[in-house]
Amino acid sequence: MEISTRGKNVTPSSTLAMNAIANQLKAEGKKVVNFGVGEPDFDTPLYIKEAAIHAMLTGLTKYTPVSGLLELRQAICSRFKNDYNLEYKPDEILVSNGAKHAIFNVLQALIDTGDEVIIPSPYWVSYPEMVKLCDGVPVIINADPKNDFKITPSELEKSITEKTKLFILNSPGNPTGTVYTLDELKGLSDILVKHKIYVISDEIYDKLIYDGEKHHSIASINDEIKNLTFIINGVSKTYAMTGWRIGYVAGNKEAIKIMTDIQSHATSNANSIAQYAAMIALQGGEKELSNMVAEFDKRRKYMIEKMEEYGINYVRPKGAFYVMMNIASYKGKSINGELIDSSDKFAELLLKYNGAATVAGSGFGNDNYIRLSYATSLEDIKLGLENINNFINSLR
Ligand code: PMP
Ligand code: GLU
Repeated sequence: MEISTRGKNVTPSSTLAMNAIANQLKAEGKKVVNFGVGEPDFDTPLYIKEAAIHAMLTGLTKYTPVSGLLELRQAICSRFKNDYNLEYKPDEILVSNGAKHAIFNVLQALIDTGDEVIIPSPYWVSYPEMVKLCDGVPVIINADPKNDFKITPSELEKSITEKTKLFILNSPGNPTGTVYTLDELKGLSDILVKHKIYVISDEIYDKLIYDGEKHHSIASINDEIKNLTFIINGVSKTYAMTGWRIGYVAGNKEAIKIMTDIQSHATSNANSIAQYAAMIALQGGEKELSNMVAEFDKRRKYMIEKMEEYGINYVRPKGAFYVMMNIASYKGKSINGELIDSSDKFAELLLKYNGAATVAGSGFGNDNYIRLSYATSLEDIKLGLENINNFINSLR
């Protein structure tokens, strides 16, 4: 088979792969604690499911406009206004098959061959792969764990070249849980405006935030940066709707029109029933959301407490549902004669000998870490952290 260069260069999503392995081991009856999963373990709230049933029963089962139901786009605009005082019109919104698809559409519309896209590391696995699929060049800035994995304006400016087209910002961040403050965003925004660099601001975890932190959208700083920014969001995380596949992008009307045309040939509209359910989701759910956030926070605090107790080095997360555990000091050690020489090997042996599934930092651009997701029960978290502690203590 003669596969394209593009196809040959793509690597599979390590987050989805680890989730699949953990689920398969569980199905085989093995006891596995799944710290690999990147989706809320909560069920989609009932009022949303009822909306989907209503949509089906009332015939919302046909094609919709490619860009999404007008009522849904209006609901999205209202949320931007209410949450962040951001003004968008429905023709500045495109609804896609998940936030992942929304990001891909932006890259398809903006990136020409050889264009550089700046991505702070650790990054969500799919960003560099998607850039490469659009024949762009990912330019990685290694964010310092001592600065909570946040990059500074001068680090950003140093990585800008004539070819830089776009910057990908993700706050709250996956896999780090990092949250940028308004002042930090202002610093980055000044550089981006000065050099006229477009921004993808992936705000999918905006509602999952702790320690009294507040989410700010970079687009809300001023009109200049708003005009350069494409905000990504969706219902996957906030409403525990990962399987429904609804995400969206907000930004410049002309660019949104191009993205809509691209989507019209690739997938047409997102699922009509899920669109209707997403519209109802966006208009409510405060109680369910605050219960979910409170539960995540309880688990986060527990994780931090236990990691301190076990002497594990980590970076304190302030958002999303992940924590990065430092594994650098275990490199060079072995278990049953098997050497740990990378984060992949650490994750593989941890799963093999102590039944805890995690995601290796290599896929996120930092081989000194593994990612633990706390989107799993407190009971599992307790057991899983004991397993990790036992694993570490058995390394020689
Ligand atoms: N961005 C980030 C940072 C994510 O963690 C995810 C989770 N998969 C996505 C985008 C994609 O979300 P969706 O499931 O809506 O495609
Ligand atoms: N974003 C989640 C994660 O990072 C889900 C998996 C994916 O879409 O990559 O685990």
